[in-house]
Amino acid sequence: MKLIRKKPKIKQVLTTCSWCGFKIGNDGPIYSIGCKKRPGVNISKYEGRIMPVKMAILGKTIWAIVPTAESDARRAGNDFFFTLCSEDCGDKLKEALNLEKEIGELIFSAEHIC
Ligand SMILES: [Zn+2]
Repeated sequence: MKLIRKKPKIKQVLTTCSWCGFKIGNDGPIYSIGCKKRPGVNISKYEGRIMPVKMAILGKTIWAIVPTAESDARRAGNDFFFTLCSEDCGDKLKEALNLEKEIGELIFSAEHIC
């Protein structure tokens, strides 16, 4: 699995699989997963740009694309999306995202109690 350490360019994110790092060619099909943000979270500063998404479970940051407010994707209810090379990678990413989501919803804080 390739780690992207430096902030990539939007074009790079659009042509790289968020899950496995595979370079998606112009002729290959591009899959994507659209996500809804949590209400109250403001991601407007990322509009038309890329947004880092810290995946604690994976121990890495993946990059999401945030369409502009007037784009079709946003009108369809997707606040940001991930580019993927295959349905298989999409399934794996979805699974990881759902795990992160569950933990995020379950835990508000964690502290030592003794
Ligand atoms: Zn992939």
